[in-house]
Amino acid sequence: MKAVFLKRPGELETRDIPEPECGPDMVKVRIKEVGLCGSDVHYFNHGRVGKNVVVSPHILGHESSGIVTETGKKVRGLQVGHRVSIEPGVPCRACKECLTGYYNLCKQVVFMGAPPNPGTFREYVVHDPLFVHTIPDTVTFTQGALVEPLSVAYNVFSNLPGAAGGTILIIGAGPIGLAGVEMAMALGVGRLLTADVDPRRLEKARELGADRVFNPAGKEFETLVEDIPELEDVDHVIEASGSEAGIRLAINAAGRKGKLALVGMGSDEISIPYMPIIRKEIRLFGTYRYANAYPSVIRLLTHGNVKGEPWVTHRFSLDDLDKGFAAANDKQSFALKIMIEL
Ligand SMILES: [Zn+2]
Ligand SMILES: [Zn+2]
Repeated sequence: MKAVFLKRPGELETRDIPEPECGPDMVKVRIKEVGLCGSDVHYFNHGRVGKNVVVSPHILGHESSGIVTETGKKVRGLQVGHRVSIEPGVPCRACKECLTGYYNLCKQVVFMGAPPNPGTFREYVVHDPLFVHTIPDTVTFTQGALVEPLSVAYNVFSNLPGAAGGTILIIGAGPIGLAGVEMAMALGVGRLLTADVDPRRLEKARELGADRVFNPAGKEFETLVEDIPELEDVDHVIEASGSEAGIRLAINAAGRKGKLALVGMGSDEISIPYMPIIRKEIRLFGTYRYANAYPSVIRLLTHGNVKGEPWVTHRFSLDDLDKGFAAANDKQSFALKIMIEL
C-alpha cells in the first residue's frame, strides 16, 4: 500500500509498504480523507511539536475517515463496508484519568500521527474498534474527517456548562475557532463575537453565524471597546489563536466570574496581564483534545447542526501531499482546512 513519510523537516517520501495485519480485536480501514492539521504542518516544518520529536521517517495525519475493509474475529458492531470516522487517540483505559472519564488526558495514549505512532497519510490503518465510529451516508468523508477538529471545539463547550444564553467571544478564526463558531451556533449561545487579524477569516465566521466580528490588530482594549461596545458584555471567552495578543485580549474581555478556555496552542511561555484574572475572578483553564465527543459531533453533523465543509478551502490527492503543506505555509493561499483525498 501507499504511505507518505516525513523523512526530515520539509521533505516527504512516498513508499510502498505492506498493509497492516488486522488482529482479532481490531478493524482495518481504507482511508478516504485526511484533514491537514496545524500540528501536521508544525511537524512538517520543524520535525517536532514541543517534546514530540520525529526521529525516523514518520507518517503524519490524524483527522481521518474511511471504509471498514476487514474486522477481527472478536469485533462486534462494525462491518465491512461501514463508512467511519477514526478517533485517533487510543487511551490505556486503566489510569486514573481514563477511569474518571478524562481519557483525553491519559499519559499512555497512543495518538495516531504523534511520533512514534504512525498517522493516516497511508491507504490502510488497523485501529481499535472502540475508536472507530460509523457515520451515516448523509455525512461526507470530508465531514467524517472533520469530526476530529469539531470534537476539539465540542470539548471546549463541554468545559463551559451554562454558556448558552451568554455572550461568547471566540478569538482566532482558524479551523478550531471556526469549529467553535459552529458549535456555539449549534448550542445556541446568546450572542457570539469573533476576533481575528485576517478579514477573510472574519468573513467566514460571519457566514457561519457570528453576530459581530472584528480585527483587534494593534489596538489597545480601551480603544477596541469604543468601536465594539458588545465587548463590555462578554461573559466567556474561547482563546483559539494561541498568540500572546489573543490571550491578552481574552483576559481583558472576559466578564466577571467569566470562564476563559485556552485551546489555541502557541509559544511555551508568554507574558500576560494577571491582575484582571484576580479582580474579575476569571476562571482560566486549558482544554485539550476531547473525550467521548465523537458520537455527539457525528449526531450534530447528521442533523446539519454543524457542517465543517464551509471551512475547507483546498483539496489535494495523497500524491500531492507536499502541495498541501505548501498551501498551508503560503500566507497568500488563504488556507483554512486543507483536505487530502486517498
Ligand atoms: Zn488535529
Ligand atoms: Zn489512561
